[in-house]
Amino acid sequence: MDINGKEIAKKIKDKIKQEAESLEKKPGLAVIIIGENPASKIYIKHKERACEYVGFYSEKIELPEETTENGLLDIVEKLNKDDKIHGILVQLPLPEHIDEDKIISAINPEKDVDGFHPISMGNLLIGKKGFIPCTPKGIIKLIESTGVDIQGKDAVVIGRSNIVGKPIAMLLMRKNATVTICHSKTKNIKEVCKRADILVVAIGRANFVTEDMVKEGAVVIDVGINRLENGKLAGDVDYENVKNKVSFITPVPGGVGPMTIAMLMQNTLDSYKQSELTE
Ligand code: NAP
Repeated sequence: MDINGKEIAKKIKDKIKQEAESLEKKPGLAVIIIGENPASKIYIKHKERACEYVGFYSEKIELPEETTENGLLDIVEKLNKDDKIHGILVQLPLPEHIDEDKIISAINPEKDVDGFHPISMGNLLIGKKGFIPCTPKGIIKLIESTGVDIQGKDAVVIGRSNIVGKPIAMLLMRKNATVTICHSKTKNIKEVCKRADILVVAIGRANFVTEDMVKEGAVVIDVGINRLENGKLAGDVDYENVKNKVSFITPVPGGVGPMTIAMLMQNTLDSYKQSELTE
């Protein structure tokens, strides 16, 4: 059965919209994009539209490819101090001449709605309150929407990136799953995947996970977004064949993607509420 991420995300955004209407000021999100990466431009458009939908203030800062690291740091610093802005997001990847870690570390952790700042990551690791990266946060909600109890389950995550693989593994562990993380050097990946009651795939390879790699009745979360030669989008899972064997699966598109955006709105709202508390 499909996990309808689009529908679940809409319900979450509707709730945020309702809450935003009752607030004194508008929660504000600033999005910085550098260069002409077409995929990044699409993601930014989705984020802008979501802000409009829920009634947030949004600022899009589009900068040319040749923007310097110091130039970008100055902009981040201005946004750190801007009272209208509660969330700052720098769309990745950045051009090669800019140190991504340096930029992310410059964001005020209180406005780190992407959850990529080392302080946010550290809080996640030690189980303290803080911003949780949007995609992993959305994945947990999608799994929970199935009614399947995560506690005690064998969970396998394929991919160990800082933005998806590592944080989702941490969150699943926090929910008391027994977690295995696979990556490009993992041996016998098929056998490892077959043990998974919950399988999260985030590698960026179209149709990598095939029917013979999944356990019957598993919950499969497909994070991958791959553009095929025919222009269509495909996930990392061979959806058509895997869907018949598992109990729940996220489609691509319409699964994890919309939840990522909804969680960005949630993190921005949470940041606004936190700033109101401390003012
Ligand atoms: P990434 O930074 O490129 O990391 C890919 C990970 O997959 C790495 O850990 C890599 O292992 C592992 N990997 C690559 N090939 C593998 C193989 N053959 N077997 C096992 N592991 C393999 O990617 P990412 O940023 O996590 O993104 C992953 C996918 O999710 C992409 O398609 C991306 O577009 C998509 N994504 C979607 C959303 C959304 O909102 N839906 C959000 C973020 C990302 P090594 O570490 O050993 O190299």
